[in-house]
Amino acid sequence: MIKKSLYLKIVGTFISVVLISIVVSYFITPFSFQQEDIFQEEISKITSGVADLVEITRPENIPYLVDTFDDINFDVLIADESSVFYASQNAPMNITDSTIKSIINKSNREPQMLKHGRDPVRTVGVPITLAGKPYALIIQIDYEDEFDDLQQGIFISLLLVLLVGSLLILLASRYLVNPIRKLTIAAKKVATGDFAVRVKKKRNRNLDEVGELITSFNHMASELEKLDQMRDDFVSNVSHEIQSPLTSIKGFTKALRDDVIPIENQKEYLDIIHQEIERLSRLSDNLLRIASLDSEHHPYNPSSYRLDEQLRNSVLTTEPQWQRKKLQIILEVEPVEIYADEDLMEHVWLNLITNAIRYTPESGEINISLNITEDEIKVLVKDNGIGIPQEAIPNLFGRFYKVDQSRNRSVEGNGLGLSIVKKILSIHNFNIRVDSKEGIGSTFTVIIPTQTK
Ligand code: ADP
Repeated sequence: MIKKSLYLKIVGTFISVVLISIVVSYFITPFSFQQEDIFQEEISKITSGVADLVEITRPENIPYLVDTFDDINFDVLIADESSVFYASQNAPMNITDSTIKSIINKSNREPQMLKHGRDPVRTVGVPITLAGKPYALIIQIDYEDEFDDLQQGIFISLLLVLLVGSLLILLASRYLVNPIRKLTIAAKKVATGDFAVRVKKKRNRNLDEVGELITSFNHMASELEKLDQMRDDFVSNVSHEIQSPLTSIKGFTKALRDDVIPIENQKEYLDIIHQEIERLSRLSDNLLRIASLDSEHHPYNPSSYRLDEQLRNSVLTTEPQWQRKKLQIILEVEPVEIYADEDLMEHVWLNLITNAIRYTPESGEINISLNITEDEIKVLVKDNGIGIPQEAIPNLFGRFYKVDQSRNRSVEGNGLGLSIVKKILSIHNFNIRVDSKEGIGSTFTVIIPTQTK
């Protein structure tokens, strides 16, 4: 429907414009004949030419000469004050004596306009001398035929424009309307959930508005496709993360219930069940946090507070974990204030320190330090753990991303921690950088611009 109406609108507009032009020009053309300037020069030339011809012709031959003028719609009257010397068939006979007198008495050959109205006939007079006697030569020129020819010519050319133009516009509007029709079909497909659809674009269309529209549409479709893919991945990742602890809980509880496990090993199995439940609980905490951070209305309450104290507290909070692994924690901080959401930032430090503990073997070392310059405060969390392969670094902050899926099961991660860290930092307009070497260790640097204070 849209296609048809746009198509018809373009064709209709063109045809109406040409039709209006035809009608207007048909009525306007006659007015150009009243523009005397157009005629003056031509009439002047013709009249003096005819006057010269008449003067050099012998008086008895003048009727023959004038007869030939008749064929070209010239009518001639030669008269003096008292009599008509010669008058052609349609010569203007209603010229008064005084007019004739005034023409004869003219000192130059400048033609004198005798009358002109709306009709395309012009009458002019010039003085001539025949056999030594002064006469008035009156010439009547009829432009009727020229006028008709001109009007017809304009009419025919406009009709041709209408015909050829209509044909061309029929073809051209297809070229204009086709991409819009394709876009409509594609938009309908997107509305039904088919995000793989793309509209093909001709090369020469790249720069015009329709080309831009197609580019934007394709971009929108690909973004929707990515979002859709992300949603699918998210659902399957969540299901997977829930499924694996549930499977082990199910297996171990069944074994306990069926008395398959000797009494002395039961506590060990209950510990595993407890760990799996904790894992599920962490997953649900993280999922809730992600949902809250993703929503427009997540709480964000920034204030000025002491960053060094917050880092010290985070180290204390994680003490049981690093003590258990006999890690050495070195905290090198000096008093400094930042302006940020204290609760959210605490989550960032806990996450980075927990990761450092998780991915550093026993007796390793974790170094937490500050680097303060005029423009920014850098917080470095450095470990000498297993490190991260270079190719994994760009994906590190993706949801559910784990460098080594199999290894991760034993270290309790769910791949959400760094994505939450990144989200919190981007809410604050803070940045994070990762430098890491496999087998050597990793440094996570949080960059806090001081202008945000
Ligand atoms: P997880 O809960 O699995 O730790 P994160 O999002 O916090 O999830 O981290 C994503 C992945 O990045 C981890 O699975 C781990 O492979 C890697 N990683 C994060 N921090 C470190 C670190 N300090 N040393 C080595 N690898 C790390």
